[in-house]
Amino acid sequence: AETLLRVEDLKKYFPIRKGVLQRVVGNVRAVDGISFTVRPGETLGVVGESGCGKSTMARTILRLIEPTSGVVEFEGKNVVTLTKSAMREMRREMQIVFQDPYASLNPRYSIGKTLLDPMEIHHLYTPAQRKQRVAQLLDKVGLDPDYTNRFAHEFSGGQRQRIGIARALTVNPKLLILDEPVAALDVSVQSQVLNLLSDLQDDLGLTYIFVAHDLSVVRYISDRVLVLYLGHMAELTDADELFANPLHPYTRALLSAVPVPDPDAKRERIILKGDLPSPANPPAGCPFHTRCPVAMDVCSKEVPAWQEVKPGHRVACHLYQ
Ligand code: SF4
Ligand code: MG
Repeated sequence: AETLLRVEDLKKYFPIRKGVLQRVVGNVRAVDGISFTVRPGETLGVVGESGCGKSTMARTILRLIEPTSGVVEFEGKNVVTLTKSAMREMRREMQIVFQDPYASLNPRYSIGKTLLDPMEIHHLYTPAQRKQRVAQLLDKVGLDPDYTNRFAHEFSGGQRQRIGIARALTVNPKLLILDEPVAALDVSVQSQVLNLLSDLQDDLGLTYIFVAHDLSVVRYISDRVLVLYLGHMAELTDADELFANPLHPYTRALLSAVPVPDPDAKRERIILKGDLPSPANPPAGCPFHTRCPVAMDVCSKEVPAWQEVKPGHRVACHLYQ
């Protein structure tokens, strides 16, 4: 199949500095060797607890944070080696929507200016076309096109997220990286925004990377799901397969916390012991071994390989090797 985005062995280490000389004494390994591909038009969900490296990964793909190493190939071009100006150009194709739309909207800009700005920065369209696009996009995201003179504070959280989505779409991107786009919203509003994203995807042929800590949200929108733990890949497969047949013990624990609609189909809740280890001092062997309910001797000694155990179903766990 075609590939829109290919990420290969992506790493982001943040140096830890100490003392007057600010010497590097270690690294926080936020993203520690992540690889995946995204096909045009699909949604890849990326899940894990906070601190698992999801947001750093999202920002590193766009080089809002520079990666330590690895390849990020968009339509065959390695964006990691692009010049700053070529990267700015590339960002037109890959836009990000953040969790907190309020923090990412300039409070002194009207909604009209908020949406016109990216098109002006990228020298896209004529002034008349830009105005027309603003009205069209507001309508597309379910807002009144007459809202252009209002300011972000006049809107609810859900409306602000619609504005954030409209702004990302002004420059006509192919890929949207959605970083916990509904996490800050009420549950009733969450489903409206998810429906909107789903409609926009069908309508505009968009490709999504959808980052979330909530598996039920991810299930709804994703074609495939990548589970991350402590900056590492734990499991990657089709969304239906992941929910029907989770292999990695961490995925099983995450799934056990998702409420099931059918009360007879009771699932036992798996409570993980201990806290997420520090990514500055990750465990040897399998990064999950300190909390894994079925850890074996080998798990603290050897890093499990990332293996395709069935067609399209990959997992990093000694249970399957
Ligand atoms: Fe658990 Fe071992 Fe599998 Fe890691 S490799 S998830 S510790 S069984
Ligand atoms: Mg879809």
